[in-house]
Amino acid sequence: MKFQTKAIHTSMPRKDAYGALAMPVYHCCAYEFPDHQAMIDSFTQVSDDPDYSRVTNPTVIHLERVIRSLTGAHEVVAFNSGMAAISAAIMAVASAGKRIVTSKHLFGNTYLLLTRTLKRFGVETVLVDLTNPSEVQEALTDNTCCIYLETITNPQMEVADLRVLSQLAHSVGAALIADTTMIPFTYVDSRGLGIDIEVLSSTKYLSGGATSLGGIVIDYGTVPGFADALCKDLLMNLGGYMTPHAAYMQTLGLETLDARYSVQEANALNIALELSQRGDVEVNYPGLPDNPYHELCRDQFGGRYSAMLTISLPTEEACFRFIDALQLVRRATNLFDNKTLAIHPHSTIFGTIDRDTRAQMDVSERLIRLSVGLEDVDDLLADLNHAIDTAVS
Ligand code: PLP
Repeated sequence: MKFQTKAIHTSMPRKDAYGALAMPVYHCCAYEFPDHQAMIDSFTQVSDDPDYSRVTNPTVIHLERVIRSLTGAHEVVAFNSGMAAISAAIMAVASAGKRIVTSKHLFGNTYLLLTRTLKRFGVETVLVDLTNPSEVQEALTDNTCCIYLETITNPQMEVADLRVLSQLAHSVGAALIADTTMIPFTYVDSRGLGIDIEVLSSTKYLSGGATSLGGIVIDYGTVPGFADALCKDLLMNLGGYMTPHAAYMQTLGLETLDARYSVQEANALNIALELSQRGDVEVNYPGLPDNPYHELCRDQFGGRYSAMLTISLPTEEACFRFIDALQLVRRATNLFDNKTLAIHPHSTIFGTIDRDTRAQMDVSERLIRLSVGLEDVDDLLADLNHAIDTAVS
């Protein structure tokens, strides 16, 4: 079966007692057993009967199962946010004395997790230019546990060569962990690109219009011990499992992902092309043929370029005027809502990080991030052009 069919027809873990067509929401904390042996078997994982919803829940298992069937992964675990998935995946490979090689171009909370939170536990993070293989090679040591990256960085829109990074990581026995939030995993041959572990915020494309928070770890089975560390240690002991209601929403979101994504990406390309004609704003979108990452992005991500783009205005004040002039596009964070969203990352998402670090991370004060939704593109362009006219006049 092809993707769209699998997304809709992957069977439930067990036949529902009432023959429900959608996986029901099992909003319960605990499960009753017929006798002591069934109880022992469940708790010792001899059987897959659920025991407690912090670690296993039929509705969440169904979502994990659909994603496993779509990706062919060894293990899929759903968490209650992208950050919970990212931290669990990294903690499954890292420990005191280990090194993580990554980029200064990271989502703000991931950057702080690595450079602040994990530093307190003796994990060293080295920031390099991941588009420069010799710089990466120099940073790799025997104690490096992973190279961590975002497939398209947010908001710089940088793309690194995953095959090269995978070879480099494997040459020192490290894993390649990739945050694939920006392009749905359904379009990308992650295993073929050499990604060992995929992490993503399912709050974004998957949730089907920003209905729920979630994060997914997809393990391709190439890192010895990873699945055990993730499922038997971090999932249980950190307590970040996805809630059944979120899993229900995200299973539905997955069913319509392709239909939504295709429109959102086409809208993003249209907007990028139109705005770049203006001449008074800089547009950064890898879908534009003259973008420095266009070909690499096309090659690695099956011709997909995401539905996020950025525009740069002459000054920070112009950005604030732009934000205030919007009438249709919403002033909000988040990505890949059905509604188009605009934000000034420098003063908001990255607002608590000191100015020098923000400059080093290339989060410019002249930058606006647009997450493009499902509206009619003519209405979006009318609003964006009006807001830019107001900002630059
Ligand atoms: N990774 C990327 C690239 C993101 O943009 C975000 C959130 O914006 C996250 C991870 C974190 O996801 P969540 O908000 O679901 O924890």
